[in-house]
Amino acid sequence: MTPAPANVDVSLSQGVAIRWRDGHESHYAIAALRAACPCATCQDLHGEGRAPEPANPLHLFQAAPNRLLEVKPVGRYALHFRFSDGHETGIFTWEYLRSLCACDACRSGR
Ligand SMILES: [Zn+2]
Ligand SMILES: [Zn+2]
Repeated sequence: MTPAPANVDVSLSQGVAIRWRDGHESHYAIAALRAACPCATCQDLHGEGRAPEPANPLHLFQAAPNRLLEVKPVGRYALHFRFSDGHETGIFTWEYLRSLCACDACRSGR
């Protein structure tokens, strides 16, 4: 089943918190979102043609951009982030966001 959010809490200076319909909560730092951007440009930089795999947000804080300028829903299936480094081509589906969750339960379940 595709994960769906019950509530999305956006802080442009801190990041995004999502409460899912199944009661799970996920918190995403801005740097982690930026580093995990699924757009073709970013995946080329990270992946060299390999299948995209979600980056581990815990290892990416040194890559830090800074802030979010805008967060917009894309239909009912995704979020679009505009980062303060000017990047804005990534579309984060709920499914992808859920797969990025860095909480203890999700990490040990992987
Ligand atoms: Zn990107
Ligand atoms: Zn989790």
